[in-house]
Amino acid sequence: MQAELFTNDYKTTPYWQDLAPQVDLPDTDLPDEIDVLVVGAGYTGLNAALQTSREGLGTLVIDAEHPGWGCSMRNGGQLSTSLKPSFSKLARRYGKEHATALCEEGQASLDYMHTLSAESGFDIGLNEVGRFHGAHKPHLYEALARDCKAGHPVWKTDAFMVSEAEMAAELGTEAYHGGMVLPRHCSIDVSKYLPSLLQNTLVAGAMVKAGCRALSIERIGNGFKVLTSEGSLKAGKVILATNGYSGSLSPWHQRRIIPIGSYVIATEEIPKETVDRLFPTDRILSDTRKLVYYYRLTPDRKRLLFGGRVSLSESDPHSSAAKLHQDMVALFPDLGTTRISHAWMGFVGYTFDTLAHCGEDNGLYFAAGYCGSGVGMASYLGMRMGHKASGRESAPSAFEKISFPTRPLYAGNPWFLAPSILVYRMRDRLGI
Ligand SMILES: Cc1cc2nc3c(=O)[nH]c(=O)nc-3n(C[C@H](O)[C@H](O)[C@H](O)COP(=O)(O)OP(=O)(O)OC[C@H]3O[C@@H](n4cnc5c(N)ncnc54)[C@H](O)[C@@H]3O)c2cc1C
Repeated sequence: MQAELFTNDYKTTPYWQDLAPQVDLPDTDLPDEIDVLVVGAGYTGLNAALQTSREGLGTLVIDAEHPGWGCSMRNGGQLSTSLKPSFSKLARRYGKEHATALCEEGQASLDYMHTLSAESGFDIGLNEVGRFHGAHKPHLYEALARDCKAGHPVWKTDAFMVSEAEMAAELGTEAYHGGMVLPRHCSIDVSKYLPSLLQNTLVAGAMVKAGCRALSIERIGNGFKVLTSEGSLKAGKVILATNGYSGSLSPWHQRRIIPIGSYVIATEEIPKETVDRLFPTDRILSDTRKLVYYYRLTPDRKRLLFGGRVSLSESDPHSSAAKLHQDMVALFPDLGTTRISHAWMGFVGYTFDTLAHCGEDNGLYFAAGYCGSGVGMASYLGMRMGHKASGRESAPSAFEKISFPTRPLYAGNPWFLAPSILVYRMRDRLGI
């Protein structure tokens, strides 16, 4: 029974890895000294390095594994304005002016991806397909409709509602009581973005070294002494770009970033007729659950990528795959016999205020905590930190101006995860 769930060539590596072009890294000895050391070669680190090297600073990016090993080659490729809290919640916390500034940067993160996509030499497979956000309870459809009518105070969403009666033209499921469409949200091709970003960063002059783990960062004089698994070096500035994989390198950040596993399956190829019937619009998809399902077709429209959080505590991707499949089939019974070709997971960096954070402390820069929506925001805040480290901009990002909270007794191990997920499950069942 279990074996029938998986294809013969089933893998526990991201689907994107099969398609990503190989980018050869030139052999790089660890220099004795560098202007800027970037730790972590995902969207944050590479976008930062792209800017510092374009500004003429000697830049070295190191990754404990290899570029894109973290979330940046494991994600679902859904691109949005990236902010979790609503405008009214932000306004209550920080006041209307600052809430507006935060939302404007959410919009700027989406705009930045359009700018990158339009740059010659970049190929990220960006497609403005829009998002369908399904209401899993009738009263949640009404809540979405109220939001839609009110409009967003900052974003031009052009959102519109799809009623339950109109669902067949939007999505082939009876599981939603209608939903909202956000036409400006996009999909990207994850297998293209990271290699393209890496290639452009190398062309800009940055050195990139894989298999090099930063072990400690010590302040000396005007800069830093960084001990790595490959030796030590001096760096004028350091940009921390390790997000959900940060570990104990910087205890201050470890106390503020919550690593949470997110799990995805890819299906085998689905017959075209079924794809056209179930997913007529090609949109990226999510729903009103607290433990949200996020899903989409692959760029070639042949498979479904279906992601979510299905286990109480961290599990391996293979164990989660069967449960994700079951949940996918609950939404799309026609996929009952569709097998799984890939299952994988990654650690997203969550925060206690569900907002991204960035900043600088005397030459040590960081950006992290995208709460599972980092395709645009990690890229944008990485770029901003790169500008800042180059001295190109002095006006701080709105995300720099908010304090980065922690909680008593939290030192990097999210012991509270299982009870929180139980509560979310109950709330999802009741729709509260
Ligand atoms: C399953 C999944 C689905 C997702 N789907 C979406 C989505 O659809 N849309 C969206 O917006 N976001 C999504 N995300 C989130 C998004 O992928 C991330 O927010 C984003 O990629 C973060 O990029 P990053 O560069 O900050 O971190 P990462 O890409 O995680 O990179 C961190 C890097 O740091 C390296 N590192 C760690 N410690 C050290 C050290 N001491 N020395 C050297 N290197 C080190 C790691 O090896 C790693 O390569 C998803 C994430 C996951 C896991």
